[in-house]
Amino acid sequence: MAVRRFDKLLIANRGEIACRIMRTAKRMGLSSVAVFSDADRDAMHAVLADEAIRIGPPPPKESYLNIEAVLDAAGKSGAGAIHPGYGFLSENADFAQACADAGLLFVGPSADTIRLMGSKSAAKALMQAAGIPIVPGYHERAQDLATLREAAERIGYPVLIKASAGGGGRGMRLVNNGGEFTEALASARREAMAAFDDDQVLIEKYLARPRHIVVQVFGDNHGNMVSLFERECSLQRRHQKVVEEALSVAVTPARRAEMSATARAAAQAVNYLGAGTVEFIADASGFYFIEMNTRLQVEHPVTEMITGLDLVEWQLRVASGEALPLKQQEARANGHAIEARIYAEDADKGFLPSTGVIRHWREPAGEGIRVDTGFRCGDAVTPYYDALLAKLIVWAPDRPQAIERMVHALHGFKIAGVTTNLRFLQVLLDHPQVARGDIDVGFIEREISALTAQAAPMRAIDMAAACAAVILHEQEEQGAQRDDSPWNRTDGWTLAGRRSRRLSFREDTHRYDAILWYGRDGLSMEFEEITAPLRWSEREPQSFDVILGDASERATATWSGRDLDLVTPHGRFALAWLDPFAADMQEAAAGSRIVAPMPGTVTRILAQPGTDLPRGAPLLVLEAMKMEHTLRAPADGRLTALKCAVGDFVQEGAELAEFEPADTSP
Ligand code: ADP
Repeated sequence: MAVRRFDKLLIANRGEIACRIMRTAKRMGLSSVAVFSDADRDAMHAVLADEAIRIGPPPPKESYLNIEAVLDAAGKSGAGAIHPGYGFLSENADFAQACADAGLLFVGPSADTIRLMGSKSAAKALMQAAGIPIVPGYHERAQDLATLREAAERIGYPVLIKASAGGGGRGMRLVNNGGEFTEALASARREAMAAFDDDQVLIEKYLARPRHIVVQVFGDNHGNMVSLFERECSLQRRHQKVVEEALSVAVTPARRAEMSATARAAAQAVNYLGAGTVEFIADASGFYFIEMNTRLQVEHPVTEMITGLDLVEWQLRVASGEALPLKQQEARANGHAIEARIYAEDADKGFLPSTGVIRHWREPAGEGIRVDTGFRCGDAVTPYYDALLAKLIVWAPDRPQAIERMVHALHGFKIAGVTTNLRFLQVLLDHPQVARGDIDVGFIEREISALTAQAAPMRAIDMAAACAAVILHEQEEQGAQRDDSPWNRTDGWTLAGRRSRRLSFREDTHRYDAILWYGRDGLSMEFEEITAPLRWSEREPQSFDVILGDASERATATWSGRDLDLVTPHGRFALAWLDPFAADMQEAAAGSRIVAPMPGTVTRILAQPGTDLPRGAPLLVLEAMKMEHTLRAPADGRLTALKCAVGDFVQEGAELAEFEPADTSP
């Protein structure tokens, strides 16, 4: 095939992956075109590109998933090729076809291959025919309840129901016994329909404690197929990868050779072109094909770190018709790489996605450290898209050193303004079982309480930091000069003769109270049993050192109204400052209002007004950041009114329903 050159590449994506693709494009002398939605007008990917074109409003359906708008942008810019990244349109066969029809190079396999591999059922049938080992299961067309139930019984419980069109763990349900089958099937179908517009399912034997191991493959137009080792992807939560490694400690050289050859055979069976990933689940008994991803994977950097290759460059070269630059026997793996996915989410609150403006951002740097991100300080994390803030990738000569480097780098990563899973990742990478490599896909779920232990109570030094944060905040609001000493201040409260002041905070159900004393020797703080001199000095906006007696620490404080997001070496505290001077200090009467915990779309209403409900009964489902959140009755009582409808996009704090707790007084 003739080589087809292009000099302008449109990237139909956003965030870290768009930025990462642009880096390679730039190095190869290509000019890059970004597309952006209204929510991403100032986003990093739009700014980094040589050209940026608006493609629509924030909801993905109207922008990043809008094929016409993306092709329009390509036409306007004169781009010769489109890289879809991952997610969005990357595995959309219609899009690949539309690109081809418009005379554009699609950086990925053909529409036919995408369509074929997009159906887990069809892919399994094909792989089975090609002699690739697959998990025992049912992947035929017939979808009636009796057939599916019979198949589950034949396979033997426990089984997994999977959406055939699935991805990201959606539409997947574990069924332990026949009694659970009907309901699990209905809910898997519902989720699959909502997510993929297709409710076909397959059924698989559920393996106990398997590992998830994937092999990177590459095919070109010249008949070459190369595999680039495996990635260990067993550290998952809700079937979504959290930490990935290359290579896997569980794979012996003999098994590596076998898995790699199987992956190449699987890719060859579909004449695969470009970058792909053959995914296996594996246990002591063997390894089994589960699916093939026809795109660049989120975790591709770990493969890049151990091979020294640039997979995006390979993609672009193969797409333009060049042969793969390496022969199979020339591929080498060196050292060990780990990737951790940093999300805007609150691990201690059920991994609730967090939105907001990033007020502070500091990345770790140094030998063997790579950060892939699309965010910087001042950017907003919106509810429209995936909450992945950054990928932190480390390399070291061996696994123990890589883990050590990762833990260190995670500690050096500072993000304020939105809640992140950084602390969760630190604890995870510090876990002795992770150090031993003794992991499987259920590990995180089983260890969740050890990994997310409720935030530790504030220590005196943390309370001191909270007090310092209040005073710095007041000074800033009043435009006063920053100064350590309250005696230099000219604002109201010391002049008014007050010699002490109570500062109170609430975190969930805890309340913390401290008293600040102003004496001749300066300021001191009384908290629980301790009274000690208190001082601080500001380092940079929002970041300061606080000194209480002999103790000191560095803290970061971010305000939003009277909510203080305080990060200290002991943890992160989401505090509400109970300001006695604020008019609306009264805490809202609990119970009667059901409010949106985050911005999102109401996708289902599960209870009707006028119904009596037990505590915990589902009321409605809110979809935010690609996840479903069920809001439940806060107590036994009655739903008195609904204030939203299916399809409504609601803001955080919006009232969705009224609920009247049952009268429990005697
Ligand atoms: P998706 O495409 O939705 O991500 P996959 O088929 O790739 O779904 O599976 C995702 C995860 O689900 C796997 O990484 C593994 O944790 C779990 N899983 C999948 N199949 C099985 C199985 N047969 N037995 C046990 N766990 C499985």
